Amino acid sequence: MKITVLGCWGPYPRAGGACSGYLFEHEDTKILIDCGNGILSRLQQMIKNFEEIDMIIISHLHSDHISDAMVLRYALGIQQAKGLIAKSIPLYAPGAPREDFEKLQFQNAFALKEIDGDSAIHFRGLEISFRQMDHPVPSYAVKIEKDHKKFVYSGDTKYCHSIFEFAEGADLLLCECGVLERDKTPDTAHLSAKEAGEIGQKSHVKKLLLTHFWPGYSLEDIYNEAKAVYDGELILSEEMKTYDVSSDAW
Ligand SMILES: [Zn+2]
Ligand SMILES: [Zn+2]
Repeated sequence: MKITVLGCWGPYPRAGGACSGYLFEHEDTKILIDCGNGILSRLQQMIKNFEEIDMIIISHLHSDHISDAMVLRYALGIQQAKGLIAKSIPLYAPGAPREDFEKLQFQNAFALKEIDGDSAIHFRGLEISFRQMDHPVPSYAVKIEKDHKKFVYSGDTKYCHSIFEFAEGADLLLCECGVLERDKTPDTAHLSAKEAGEIGQKSHVKKLLLTHFWPGYSLEDIYNEAKAVYDGELILSEEMKTYDVSSDAW
């Protein structure tokens, strides 16, 4: 299992960067997780043909996680019409807000499927499950397991009990950290870097890969805040870098 960070900024990119989008790969399987702005261009640096994407999973319907899905639907719709690709790509996303969910479709670009906390996908030996987090719109953490290896992605969330339980024992937790402690208020819809570190620590996560950085922050401040509370291997996402979920080598 490996994960390539296509974009790591949120809720808008820094110059030359992209927002949330991650390519999960295992053997021949390719799953795109989130598709924020800038991701379609980056994705095409990783794949030759859109049909190589087996499915798309969207954690929630905020623009920094879906805006390039609105463009990808054109690419797929046009290529289907020209006979260049044969199939609709399965896209799993929360069904709300309803109008955002319905906007994802264009011609038959996607085979749209709604997810909730009970959803489970069994695909080529991969077990994919979801857990609702705490965010202003329905937002789901995603877990992909195979052969006792466990990859978890937090999606966007406030600090909540659900993420601790869901991430327990993950080989790699890809975790958002949209704020630093100094900027957090009761209304903040994101984890601080410290909270992400605490989740990694208390959930016994072997490797913590942080993402969803606000462009105005120093990455060093983010690292230091999380490192102060997390003893394991801590990594700040770098765009277009691939991380092996199950290996100790980075
Ligand atoms: Zn976001
Ligand atoms: Zn969000």
